[in-house]
Amino acid sequence: MNETMQVISAERAGGPDVLRVGTQDVPEPGPRQVLVRTEATGVNFIETYQRAGVYPVSYPFVPGTEGCGEVVAVGADVTEVAVGQRIATAEASRTYAEHFLVDADRTLPVPADMDPRVAAALPLQGLTAHYLVRSTFPVGPGHTAVITAASGGVGGLAIQLMKPVGATVIALTSTPEKAETARGLGADHVLPYEDFASGVRELTDGAGADVVYDSVGRATFDASLKATRVRGTTVLFGGASGQVPPFDLQRLNSEGGLYVTRPSLAHYTRDAEERQWRWRDLVDAVGDGALTVRVGGTYPLADAAAAHRDLESRATQGKLLLIP
Ligand code: NDP
Repeated sequence: MNETMQVISAERAGGPDVLRVGTQDVPEPGPRQVLVRTEATGVNFIETYQRAGVYPVSYPFVPGTEGCGEVVAVGADVTEVAVGQRIATAEASRTYAEHFLVDADRTLPVPADMDPRVAAALPLQGLTAHYLVRSTFPVGPGHTAVITAASGGVGGLAIQLMKPVGATVIALTSTPEKAETARGLGADHVLPYEDFASGVRELTDGAGADVVYDSVGRATFDASLKATRVRGTTVLFGGASGQVPPFDLQRLNSEGGLYVTRPSLAHYTRDAEERQWRWRDLVDAVGDGALTVRVGGTYPLADAAAAHRDLESRATQGKLLLIP
């Protein structure tokens, strides 16, 4: 008889309560896969879009792309990872489970002195913050950047990656408590969402920001375009408030010859070299104390629905983790 494991799965799209605890066989790794015993798995906003049916998935759906744990079996063609090593990943699937499979080339080495919870919390939000500020629009000295959900997972890491290169960071948050967090992480200015385009213009002598990183989407995208300077870049990287409806490209002309992009992590981890470069940068920054990974809540795996509820309630700051 196969060994079994606890998993979280949904039989249909819906609210957090569609996430149910169940039992499945522990899977076997394919030739280029490794099997990981989950120590912690990260909860990410994308899983709420998938659970709710905003992004299509097949059922039964086991959420999760991110986790950290010990390698307990490897496929026949795996040479780069060995049984007994601790790895992390941002690019697995079905990680809301006591074990998960991941392609060997999507594994990330975890330093011996790194807390496994930090190693589970960092990959997806860290790699995202890294590609946004280093590659989508490479932020440098003298640039002014706006970031939404600035006290959240990606936002908080992005502030910390932008400050050391000499950028001015304008953080957007929804509460005074979150504003305080963003300031503590290094933001130069913090604005509420209400009429933030005017606030950004005031802070930049009317010019606007070089780049606006917008993860809130429907509720903010219009103002993000207005807050971007002539020939600046608006990066739409999420839709926490809903998806942005189609818009007239002529807007980009009337707002000042803007560049707009809608990237995903997969576009910026094209091969092992790119993935490992970003991960090494993040791990080094954590090791140097330049990057603080904030865990905003840990939940038993069986309480995945509560983690989703909390993330969607807009009350959380930092990373939420599920611990089997
Ligand atoms: P966060 O920790 O940032 O949590 C989401 C935050 O979004 C909330 O705390 C809240 O902060 C803000 N928010 C604004 N409007 C709403 C709303 N209507 N409902 C709920 N939250 C809202 O989550 P993550 O760091 O995991 O993800 C941040 C964003 O980045 C998400 O939109 C996600 O989809 C996106 N993302 C994109 C990736 C990509 O490659 N494109 C990869 C990873 C994440 P506040 O109250 O301050 O506004």
